[in-house]
Amino acid sequence: MTSTLQLYNTLSRKKENFTPFNAPHVGMYVCGPTVYGDPHLGHARPAITFDLLFRYLAYLGYKVRYVRNITDVGHLENDADAGEDKIAKKARLEQLEPMEVAQRYANRYRSAMQHLNVLPPSIEPHASGHIIEQIALVEEILKRGFAYEVGGSVYFDVEAYSKKHTYGKLSGRVLDDLMANTRSLDGQGDKRNPFDFALWKKVAPEHIMRWKSPWGVGFPGWHLECSAMSTKYLGETFDIHGGGLDLMFPHHECEIAQSVAACGHDAARMWVHNNMITINGQKMGKALGNFITLEELFTGSHRLLVQAYSPMTIRFFILQAHYRSTLDFSNEALQAAEKGLQRLLAAKKTLAHLKPSDKSTLDVSRLLADCRAALDDDLNTALALVALMEWVKNINLVKAGAETLTAADIEQLRKDFALVTSDILGIKDDSLADESKKDLSADLINLLLNLRLQAKASKDFATSDKIRNDLAALGVAVKDTKDGFEWSIA
Ligand code: ZN
Repeated sequence: MTSTLQLYNTLSRKKENFTPFNAPHVGMYVCGPTVYGDPHLGHARPAITFDLLFRYLAYLGYKVRYVRNITDVGHLENDADAGEDKIAKKARLEQLEPMEVAQRYANRYRSAMQHLNVLPPSIEPHASGHIIEQIALVEEILKRGFAYEVGGSVYFDVEAYSKKHTYGKLSGRVLDDLMANTRSLDGQGDKRNPFDFALWKKVAPEHIMRWKSPWGVGFPGWHLECSAMSTKYLGETFDIHGGGLDLMFPHHECEIAQSVAACGHDAARMWVHNNMITINGQKMGKALGNFITLEELFTGSHRLLVQAYSPMTIRFFILQAHYRSTLDFSNEALQAAEKGLQRLLAAKKTLAHLKPSDKSTLDVSRLLADCRAALDDDLNTALALVALMEWVKNINLVKAGAETLTAADIEQLRKDFALVTSDILGIKDDSLADESKKDLSADLINLLLNLRLQAKASKDFATSDKIRNDLAALGVAVKDTKDGFEWSIA
């Protein structure tokens, strides 16, 4: 199996030819969401980036095992080893069992991903379902002398590790700088060094998520789950590890240290990171008031939004930028993406009715060739979309008679256009498939007709007639029945 795909490997900081070590099988692990809140814009970009890689590798003929985890334990509020568990906190505030919180938000995450046409991964393991594997990994790291136990907690010994291996090789952080810049924090008195990180934490009395371990009752450190689950499902060595750039340090750095400490070598052969999303030039954050959930985007119900944006508009917009560039969300940029998407979908319909000619004035093989060349070059979706939109223009020129295509070329173009648009880029027409809008319309019509019943009951026939006539003008036919009403859309 050969491919010309090159990816930017953030470990060696260069583009590398993609060569799976066990071709045609490819192992890909991507850090998934911590499920304690509604899925937001920040979740959309890594999901779409790695969905594209998943789809493209499959198109190239590889058999991809794509593992994306669900973090439901161990992710503390400050991303390091202090603060409350994010899910336990939500459970306390909402008076729920922590697994109810995890289930609720995992469901919402999956539903939002489905709207964005993100394919489900091959395996979606939960951290809380892999406590045994995580304990075994801690035991292995302890045995090899790269961790120490203090009062029921186990910490990774970064200094001991650094004598044999390089801590910080992914993010380029140097241990001496880390030492100089890290002050001892409150509550971290157990650690030998402030930059050591928890593999296992002894529970505080109020902590509700707890498991038995050789070191007492506690819970795993956040970084541990990804090392344990990637090894379990992809082996000690696998091809691609992905995630958002914000996870590079400390999360991915700690994952590398754990794998190397336990196995003696790196687990992931290649690291791929997507860059961050900004909103009107600012980092997204709750404190800044620009934290937008996907539901708010799909319904337009956030004060920063002037309208609703369909999931496909969001997908199209994210694909318009290369995954390693920052991407700025604004109403203007989203409206431009919406127009582009509409032009693309309109061209697809036009293509279905093009009239053939005796000869072709365009080379239809360019569409697939140019899109492939762009995607082979570090998954350059921005250029692939430019190539695709060039053909949107060409299709309209053929329709206008300014260019011509033979019947065979039209057929080829249809096939390639569908392949690139639907299969590889995952763009579909979702304007009619929006179930939530359909449900809302039905609810609103029922609401109006119940008001009409009340009006009739109080002999307000003017209002009753107005509601029926106005609905009729909107295409909603109302029929009075014995026990109320029936309606249908013309
Ligand atoms: Zn992870």
